[in-house]
Order: sequence, then C-alpha cells, then structure tokens
Amino acid sequence: MNRPTVRHARDGFRWDGVDLLRYKDEGAAPFRDVTRQVLFDEVPAGTQWRYFEVAPGGHSTLERHQHTHAVLVLRGRGRVLVGNRVHAIAAHDLVEIEPLAWHQFRADTDEALGFLCLVAADRDRPQLPDDAQFAALRADPVVAAFLQPENP
Ligand code: MN
Repeated sequence: MNRPTVRHARDGFRWDGVDLLRYKDEGAAPFRDVTRQVLFDEVPAGTQWRYFEVAPGGHSTLERHQHTHAVLVLRGRGRVLVGNRVHAIAAHDLVEIEPLAWHQFRADTDEALGFLCLVAADRDRPQLPDDAQFAALRADPVVAAFLQPENP
C-alpha cells in the first residue's frame, strides 16, 4: 500500500485517489441509490473506514450482523432504524449499531444522507430478514411506516 499522506477533499464529498463504488452488487440485497467510498483500509490495522452516500429518497439494506458500526453523519438528513427504534439523524450526529441490531438508513426525499462508517475489516456477512423477522419488525407501526413496501 503506497498512498499519499494527504488525499485532498474534492467537491461533492469525494477525495483524491478514492474510487466511487457500488454500495453492494446489484441484486445481492435490496437497497436504493447508495454509493460507497473506502477511505482507509486496514488503517488502523483491522479496520475499514467508509463513506456512504444515500441519494434523496434512497435507502441502505435492512440487515443485521455480529460486527458493529460506528457512524458519523457528514451531510444531509434522514432517518435510521436501529433495533426496533426509528431516529431522525442529521449532519454530525453519531450512530452506534450494536451486534445483531436490525438497521437501515433512509435519506429524506429532498436531501442526500452521507455518513462515515467504521467497521472491522474482517467481519461477518450481513443477514437479511426472513418473512417472519420482517413481519415482527412491522408489528410496530412506527417501524412499519419506516419500512416501505419495497422491503425486504
Ligand atoms: Mn450493516
């Protein structure tokens, strides 16, 4: 690995030498209008630091896994489901996703939601809800309103 010490920010939440990637492979899991940039890989060792951006009206995958997420919202506004609670989030908020908590990020319809997300480099694969788990989440009307019909 031979990166420059400083990689300057560009306009639009891009950085020199950082590729704009697909969030996940198309068809691998449900999501809408999300991009991914890996800012630091194994720096510090054992971690990966990513920047995700959810376009207005878009959403990340509804999933859970053993590994945790430490999230700092950098831009925009939206909502996040963590466990069985929905929270409004905006720039500079911190979000912690604990092991096996169901989670999904949704951008507001009029503004993108961009956030940094720190994870373990070696991590378990996300699980998607089965029909019974999805129904259990939807039993709460606030969660049901958050989880729109395109899920899971
Ligand atoms: Mn996740």
